[in-house]
Amino acid sequence: IARSTKHGVHRGMSSVTIPPPACMLRPLEAPFRYLFGPGPSNVPPRILAAGGRPIIGHMHSEMFGIMNDIKKGIQYAFQTSNNMTLAMSGSGHTAMECAVFNIVEPGESVLVAINGIWGERVAEIAERMGAKVHTLFKTPGGHFTNAEIEQALAKHKPVLFFLAHGESSSGLVHPVDGVGDICHKYNCLLLVDSVASLGAAPLLMDQQNIDILYTGSQKALNAPPGTAPISFSERACHKMFNRKTKPVSYLLDMTHLSNYWGNDGKPERKYHHTGPVSGFFALRESLAILAEMGLENSWSHHTEVAEYLWKGLEDLGLKLFIKDKDLRLPSVTTIAIPEGYDWKELLAYIMKHHQIEFTGGLGPSVGMVLRIGLMGYNCNKANAAMALAALEDALKQCRKSKA
Ligand code: PMP
Repeated sequence: IARSTKHGVHRGMSSVTIPPPACMLRPLEAPFRYLFGPGPSNVPPRILAAGGRPIIGHMHSEMFGIMNDIKKGIQYAFQTSNNMTLAMSGSGHTAMECAVFNIVEPGESVLVAINGIWGERVAEIAERMGAKVHTLFKTPGGHFTNAEIEQALAKHKPVLFFLAHGESSSGLVHPVDGVGDICHKYNCLLLVDSVASLGAAPLLMDQQNIDILYTGSQKALNAPPGTAPISFSERACHKMFNRKTKPVSYLLDMTHLSNYWGNDGKPERKYHHTGPVSGFFALRESLAILAEMGLENSWSHHTEVAEYLWKGLEDLGLKLFIKDKDLRLPSVTTIAIPEGYDWKELLAYIMKHHQIEFTGGLGPSVGMVLRIGLMGYNCNKANAAMALAALEDALKQCRKSKA
């Protein structure tokens, strides 16, 4: 009970009625897990160490130097010379919302390719901010031809077209060649999601005429979740900096963020929000690792390990969900759920007995697939062999007819 005087509660005297929770008096427990799902993936010691360094102020000159390095690292990873390149303080969804909120004004038309959960999400984000949303639809695993895209662009005349390059809910890597040119023919900007594919499958922002590209920190980049690289072409900047209305979000407003990242040409960077300093340290280290390895090596390494995994899965008698090898996402492999098994039981068994995380489907692919992700640091044949052995064991132990 609080002791009070006529002046109110005594300073320094106990006035709390909620005691310290017992859980807070116990140490943090986070077990080691093999994160072989679609993300986050395991973080290598070098990146953990970078994130564990003493923090500095988010507005210190050294921090601006680190942010400038991150910008260069993203320009390399995206293969872009866009000045408007930065990392969002937040997960991949923050970048999705940033792109849509800044580019689109209420009432404008947006076209979204939906072939899994990511198109669904972007359509909902655009709808919530008052856009007129049109969709192109395929069931999970499907993809769109350039002719289909062109037809929809001609019909709906959107200001923005969304496509997921690495559709992680279905395991599909979507062709992007030519799509940017078609969009520009119809005066539309191309927004591409590479959260699950960056560093694992070839993508060249400038050469492929992508206007807005974003990714996440926690997949092939192997940083902890919580930061999200994004880049805007000149064409995209022209649209977003000549709007009639302010974007619906203050936090994600690119006029502020471009100043925070030193991209607006102004001599002074002003306080906008406190960036995740440790997250930026870790992201810088992950971009450094990618730069040291080289993008092309990273792409071919992911393909080689994925092909080893795919062969092993087929040898176990399993069916890969994406039939065409060229359309399989090397970072996230989808397996058709084998007949006679409960997919939840398989996943629980593998987690319990092998400390390995695989996952089921997501959104429209739930109940259709199992997903195995081997990305960045996790991407090697030893891990693929471990994943295969765990799955083989689970297939022996969990057969339904046994019960
Ligand atoms: N897009 C794709 C393709 C993804 O795989 C994910 C994460 N699974 C996201 C967007 C969303 O990223 P986040 O969970 O970091 O918000």
